[in-house]
Amino acid sequence: MVAQSGFFNFGRVYSNHSYMIRLGRYTGIRTTTRLRMSTSTYPQASAERAQELVANYTKINNSVQEFAKLHSAKPVRLIAVSKLKPSSDIMALYNHGVRHFGENYVQELVGKAEELPKDICWHFIGSLQSGKVKDLGKGIENLWAVETIDSLKKCKKLDTLRKDTGYEKINIYLQVNTSNEDQKSGYSSQDLAEIFETVEFLKSSDCKSLELKGLMTIGSFAESTTKDEINEDFDVLVKVKKIIDEKYSTSLELSMGMSNDYQQAIKQGSTNVRVGSNIFGARPPKN
Ligand SMILES: *Cc1c(COP(=O)(O)O)cnc(C)c1O
Repeated sequence: MVAQSGFFNFGRVYSNHSYMIRLGRYTGIRTTTRLRMSTSTYPQASAERAQELVANYTKINNSVQEFAKLHSAKPVRLIAVSKLKPSSDIMALYNHGVRHFGENYVQELVGKAEELPKDICWHFIGSLQSGKVKDLGKGIENLWAVETIDSLKKCKKLDTLRKDTGYEKINIYLQVNTSNEDQKSGYSSQDLAEIFETVEFLKSSDCKSLELKGLMTIGSFAESTTKDEINEDFDVLVKVKKIIDEKYSTSLELSMGMSNDYQQAIKQGSTNVRVGSNIFGARPPKN
């Protein structure tokens, strides 16, 4: 009994694999479970698929960085939106050094986060139902950002749930409905009272486990297809940012722009673009 508890303490201190192998041989205790845990075999794409993904990513990233250099005072982050795509696709880009991935569905994200490396910076970018806030706050240790907070209530709920986990803080982007379409979620861009309240909560000492990072919008399809013209929806988000920055001395990031319109978004000040199909190809229908 004594020897065994000693062994386990030892194991915890020396988590180095090769040491565990030697220790395993020496003690005759099987260490395969521990080995599988530490050098876990992640799902891998075929060589062709990996090559294709890296080529797509590189092309988009080069274009993002080129536009950033011309138009942006701040660096621009490219989020690879991997919703409905297999974990092996994510690993192909991970192996290339990519860390920021975006997902839309809570259950899918929880599953992928469990399966994949813990230094991935996950962005939740899907519409957030109240009932799913718990899984999001508790289930994903390395959740880097929730980009789709659209009410003070959900914001407080997420903070409370996260607090108990002891995990890192989550970066928050407040989603603004800039196109005023009924089917889009987000804070109103016309009546800013609730978004102000949420900013005040996030900046207060009541908020323990969330960090206000920026504003996010999706924008209407119509605006995303008017090439080489000001996107009015992005313009609305820029105006809301200006008002909040002045009122609260913040320096908010902007998350706007997808496959269709990320270049225009960067021209208008986006610092966070979310690109899916241009990197991963067309998505299967969600069923
Ligand atoms: C799916 C999705 C994206 C990526 O869209 P693409 O057009 O495939 O680049 C970006 N943002 C949000 C919120 C999404 O739901």
